[in-house]
Amino acid sequence: MTSMHAASEGAKATPQARGGYRLETLAIHAGRSIDKGTGAVAQPIHLSTTFERDVDGDYSRGFMYGRNRNPGRAALEEAVALLDGGAGAAAFSSGVAAASAVFQGLQPGDHVIAPSQGYYGTVNVLDRIFAKWGLERSFVDMTSLDALRASLTPQTRLVWVETPSNPLLQCVDIAGVVEMAHARGIRVVADNTFASPVVQQPLRLGCDMVTYSTTKYLGGHSDVLGGVVISRESDEHFETVRATQVYGGGVLSPFDCWLLLRSLPMLPYRMRGHCANAQRIAEYLAEHARVKAVHYPGLPDHPTHHVAQGQMHGYGGMLSFEVEGGLKEAMALAARLQLFTRATSFGGVESLVEHHASIAGPHRSVPQGLLRLSVGLEHVDDLLADLDQALTTD
Ligand SMILES: *Cc1c(COP(=O)(O)O)cnc(C)c1O
Repeated sequence: MTSMHAASEGAKATPQARGGYRLETLAIHAGRSIDKGTGAVAQPIHLSTTFERDVDGDYSRGFMYGRNRNPGRAALEEAVALLDGGAGAAAFSSGVAAASAVFQGLQPGDHVIAPSQGYYGTVNVLDRIFAKWGLERSFVDMTSLDALRASLTPQTRLVWVETPSNPLLQCVDIAGVVEMAHARGIRVVADNTFASPVVQQPLRLGCDMVTYSTTKYLGGHSDVLGGVVISRESDEHFETVRATQVYGGGVLSPFDCWLLLRSLPMLPYRMRGHCANAQRIAEYLAEHARVKAVHYPGLPDHPTHHVAQGQMHGYGGMLSFEVEGGLKEAMALAARLQLFTRATSFGGVESLVEHHASIAGPHRSVPQGLLRLSVGLEHVDDLLADLDQALTTD
């Protein structure tokens, strides 16, 4: 379905405004085809690591060796590129491998600005790997465009945006960052893992690239680790990402590609469920006497609600809340929950609860009384009842 390239549109493009097909249709058809040999409707898995040459030595069918290109990976890359309105995509064996590939397109001495509330794995990649390699880093609270402006240097080449943030769900004005960066020739890359392409489309807001940990919502079932980079243009930077994939070799396996492609058709419907359930739970928690604070961009009094409203379709399935009594009460509350499993990660059909300060590391000031919820697709009344019993029992 390569003919369906979406036209570029204005700021908050609605799913109906995409050129060609709407999101639900793309999620089902993009990257897929009926198998010519058999007529199979479901996509095959090609495990073959090597492919036959033509008699003249060419590879006219486009496949030579599994690390370079695999039919399932090519199908997945086409699908995710179309969902985000990009020109191309590269799939990696994890989300941090995808992020690393973006940074590998930079030169030693280049300066990167990343969010102070960003995913800790991205901070690790920058501090433990790329620092040695001579990449300069600043970590900035980009909810303030003034703070971002103040941190720009003549060597700044890339601004890394992550919105909503983890775990306080602070939203960054993507178009505002893009305007400031592009005026100085600086590229902007958005880690869109928290939102998914259903909820937010950074390329349509002007970003140069978007990355995902597909381990989260794109996979959606907590059973496949992966990452993708999607580029708005087939430009030089994307060529370096592709080279890192093919020559660096951190590719996604054929089976994992198949699982991910299997997950995409339901993504729009899953996200609607995640958003609706999270909104109800946030509203319930906001009213509860034992809850000190709720962090969800869909609540009108969230500090960045207006930013979210301007760039998101729905407010996502992630939220956090704080209880009195710090660490002890937060842990006790998490232990009383029956339907929410105590586990890290997010984006699956099942609800999860995480005491975030325990894993955030010492450089973060995450309140000890804060619990993060990945709101799943169980019936919302069952989730509310579970929270209710956990909050009222001693
Ligand atoms: C999980 C996550 C990643 C890293 O993905 P892995 O698949 O675990 O490597 C990157 N960014 C965000 C926002 C994430 O939540």
